[in-house]
Amino acid sequence: MSTSPKYIFVTGGVTSSLGKGIVAASLGLLLKSRGFRVTIQKLDPYINIDPGTLNPYEHGECYVTEDGAETDLDLGHYERFLDAPTSQNNNVTTGKIYQTVIDKERRGDFLGKTVQVIPHITNEIKRRIKILGKQDYDIIITEIGGTVGDIESLPYIESVRQLRYELGEKNSIVIHLTLLPYLAASGELKTKPSQHSVRQLMESGVQADILVCRTEHSIEKSIRAKLAQFCNVPVSNVIECLDADSIYQVPLLLQAQDFDQVVLKALNLSTDSQSELGDWKEFLLKYENPKNSITIGLIGKYVSLQDSYKSIIEAFHHAGASQETEVKIEWIYSGDLNSNTVEESLKKCDGILIAPGFGDRGIDGKIVSAKYARENRIPTLGICLGMQIMTIEFARNVLRMEQANSTEFDDKTPNPVIALMEDQKNVVEKGGTMRLGAWSCKLVEDSTLKNIYGLDLITERHRHRYEFNGDYKKLFEENSFKTSGENPDTNLTEALELTTHPFYIGVQYHPEYKSTVEKPHPLFKSFIQAVLSQQNKA
Ligand code: GLN
Repeated sequence: MSTSPKYIFVTGGVTSSLGKGIVAASLGLLLKSRGFRVTIQKLDPYINIDPGTLNPYEHGECYVTEDGAETDLDLGHYERFLDAPTSQNNNVTTGKIYQTVIDKERRGDFLGKTVQVIPHITNEIKRRIKILGKQDYDIIITEIGGTVGDIESLPYIESVRQLRYELGEKNSIVIHLTLLPYLAASGELKTKPSQHSVRQLMESGVQADILVCRTEHSIEKSIRAKLAQFCNVPVSNVIECLDADSIYQVPLLLQAQDFDQVVLKALNLSTDSQSELGDWKEFLLKYENPKNSITIGLIGKYVSLQDSYKSIIEAFHHAGASQETEVKIEWIYSGDLNSNTVEESLKKCDGILIAPGFGDRGIDGKIVSAKYARENRIPTLGICLGMQIMTIEFARNVLRMEQANSTEFDDKTPNPVIALMEDQKNVVEKGGTMRLGAWSCKLVEDSTLKNIYGLDLITERHRHRYEFNGDYKKLFEENSFKTSGENPDTNLTEALELTTHPFYIGVQYHPEYKSTVEKPHPLFKSFIQAVLSQQNKA
């Protein structure tokens, strides 16, 4: 293996949403399966410091890393495919780049020089790319967000140009992902937009080494030859990326065209190693041939953009496959739920997931659904806000505290069963100030949760400002809603379970962030098992 790492840059042309993240993650998996140590980084061209303050409707879910970075959802794909954690360094935005450069300027680090995009911004971009190279990796894959030709992407493309020159021949490659539109009227795949986007890249001094072409139809030899000729690449380096039924097929579709070998050869790395994808194939086989089918009602307020709950959906896919069960999601907008509509909306659901979220829109609908699921013994998992909702509902309807609430929604409630965390009370800035990242949680003896994990101590990722109010713990426990996980240092309640219900568990943390294809999450697995055993009883 090489001593200094090799760099792969993934750019996109023609249109956004081509799936650069999935192609990068698939390539990462293929290389990892051959024994290379790989990591994947995303450079986002927007000016936000991180996506933590963005509405999920903008770019989908905000993904949280172990070390507490709020990142782009593509990092979730990287972790799920590679089964390896990412970190703060794996997601960089233009906002972060400029913030660093401006801070240095204010400190006087530039010694009176004029601070400019080239070299100061591009130097900072290159530094962020090379940071990962200082760790123990053989290959760093860097996905450049946005589309070639966007004004905001220019400094990134320029940095790639400079870096490729500095790294020298065969130490880096550019993979350009493009689209071959299909004209139904003439029955043809068109190459012109790809030719133009490759040319646009060349105008910035960057030659693509490999083309990955998104297409609805298989690419014929003549089209490959044409692309190769116009885009300065060998025909073997034109790779087709056919629309797939599932993202999990993509690595195998790419491997079937020797994509990994083409990449290794271009980087002057050995192709002797054999790829071990047995577990992946086994997963796919089960995923595509389920023996059972269940419907989970996902109650949330961002349901019109399913990417808002990306990690939850993928966690269901991983756990579902492990149980040979197809998990169908019924998307339920919490704003439409009330005591008159809840039965009609939820009656087709075998299990219910109450989703995370912020702000008071749709809260009443979530509370109504928690009540319905509790009373009708429907297996229910509440995540973060979902757990807080279960708590509020229980306080109101079982403990008879009608005005119980979270102080997020009513700061004058006489029964603040969910309250702002102590160390959040002086927080003014919104960005990056929540309780974030991995925290330990001690599981309570004889609890269902401890049984599920089979461990005394777990770590899970968090993203919240409010928490269960410990003053109510005794009262809840006396009524069978028991704390089953707590922070070992502060005794904060991190999980609750209703012992009189087949499966009614709320967790303050986000289990979905840690689910991978290789390691489906135990909580999602046992949730599905609980749904299946309820189905069998019916
Ligand atoms: N809004 C709640 C809090 O800040 C829940 C957050 C979440 O669901 N991620 O505590």
